[in-house]
Amino acid sequence: MDGLMMHRPLLQSGLLDFAAESFPEARIVSRRVEGDLHRQSWAQTRARAVQLSFALEGWGVAPGDRVATLAWNGHRHLEIYHAVPSIGAVCHTINPRLSADQMVFIAHHAGDRLLFTDLSFVPLLEKLQDRLPPMRYVVMTDAAHMPQTTLDALCYEDLLAGQPTDRVWPDLPETTASGLCYTSGTTGDPKGVLYSHRSNMLHALATAAVLGPDLGPQPRILPVVPLFHVNAWGLPFTAPLIGASLIMPGPALDGASLWDLCQAEGVESAWGVPTIWQGLFAEIQSRGAKPANLRHIVVGGSAMPRSLTEGFERLGIDVNHAWGMTETSPLGSQGSLTPAQRDLPFDRRMALKQAQGRRVFGVEMKIVDDAGTRQPHDGQAMGELFVRGNTVAAGYHDNAGATARAIDADGWFGTGDIASISADGILTLRDRAKDLIKSGGEWISSIDVENLAVAHPDVAQCAVIALPHPKWDERPLLVIKPKGAARPGLEEMRSHLGAHLASWQLPDDVVYVDEMPLTATGKISKLTLREQFRDHVLP
Ligand code: ADP
Repeated sequence: MDGLMMHRPLLQSGLLDFAAESFPEARIVSRRVEGDLHRQSWAQTRARAVQLSFALEGWGVAPGDRVATLAWNGHRHLEIYHAVPSIGAVCHTINPRLSADQMVFIAHHAGDRLLFTDLSFVPLLEKLQDRLPPMRYVVMTDAAHMPQTTLDALCYEDLLAGQPTDRVWPDLPETTASGLCYTSGTTGDPKGVLYSHRSNMLHALATAAVLGPDLGPQPRILPVVPLFHVNAWGLPFTAPLIGASLIMPGPALDGASLWDLCQAEGVESAWGVPTIWQGLFAEIQSRGAKPANLRHIVVGGSAMPRSLTEGFERLGIDVNHAWGMTETSPLGSQGSLTPAQRDLPFDRRMALKQAQGRRVFGVEMKIVDDAGTRQPHDGQAMGELFVRGNTVAAGYHDNAGATARAIDADGWFGTGDIASISADGILTLRDRAKDLIKSGGEWISSIDVENLAVAHPDVAQCAVIALPHPKWDERPLLVIKPKGAARPGLEEMRSHLGAHLASWQLPDDVVYVDEMPLTATGKISKLTLREQFRDHVLP
């Protein structure tokens, strides 16, 4: 027997309508590429998104068309995020940190026919335009800042001017594609994850449910995680749902700029990858104070070093360690503590925060061994993490080969992460399968070693990579970016780590770099390090 309730499609367009009417105090504050600080309400955001939607339709943008962006976090990017899917088209965010070849590849693969760009990327696009698909460009600025360009380009504000500011959005099936985001493709070509209205809405609801209580009413949130990386972890959709203000940092993501913006705009919660928090924490230390209202950090993308979590927590900033990936929208698990856990002594709490937390409702998890056999959830057994749920990719856009490799016979998605899950459902990421060091039939978790190594006072950042070894197959090499002039040697690091690790888990050698290579999503690029130190001879 069916229930007797209405069935209305879960559409993203409902979000702006809701926020515009319900949250008049919330603001979208944007540090723009033009140099100024811009403010607008959700109602203004909706009105401008409506104007943009009419302009797009006037240009012949039809349901299913892919509309690309190449832009930092700012209000215009947010408007595009809502206008494009609300008329049934697909918002394809391109990561500007990808290589030129990758950008060209994905623009063709996605079939983009229109591209919105920030001023910063106009010179790059001028160089690439002959290799990109034939398309029109919109420069996200006003007439006064419109550059001379060889692109077939219009100015964003001219596009909006004169268009009506209100409309009834079209009804669409909730399964309609709404967004497209390519993984950074550290191995092989980037793969496209095609989100739907339904998946993004369910993700927003789940995120609001698990993070809402810690965020508090109408929080002021700084998305450092870019809109071009997994929908800025879903914030364009969660924020209008909970009436958050979004403080958009534009291109300035260094510690000092973030500190100033947090302080000036009263940011309460900030979201981003660990390398960003290293920068902000160094700034806090040098200024001797945290931004006054900052009390919450969401961190994910790679494992958060414990010493950094502890540093923030000692300042009264609650660090919420989350796990996810482009293919999971991204939130898969998150580590907010239960009331009883909040009362635990500092050390116990920090140990809990080291893990990646509980799964989000709607995301099922299993860990399996190489033969595909399920492993127990006992906190000890490790295996590849597989996930299933309404916010998990069922495959890759137009890529049957990659889809077949990723989805198992029972329809679960293989994450490529090695994890354990405790009896009470706490996920602990041990490593990416490709980063694990396989030494003499045992696994060494690079995450574990890095976590301890970065707590050494002379270490700013570090990474552990596998080097081939004639006897043990692989052995760990510790790559350090020192904090200052001091370069802690091998024996020093081995004795620092030896307090917590078995001797066979200790690195065989230490090397130093001035800068850590980063991936397009701001994580330490172990692929680059492995290439850089390929010929390094272990003692
Ligand atoms: P990319 O691979 O392009 O950097 P993703 O964001 O999709 O982009 O990366 C997802 C991967 O990041 C996960 O499979 C996992 O290996 C890693 N990751 C994400 N969150 C965490 C976390 N909290 N701790 C450890 N690793 C994480």
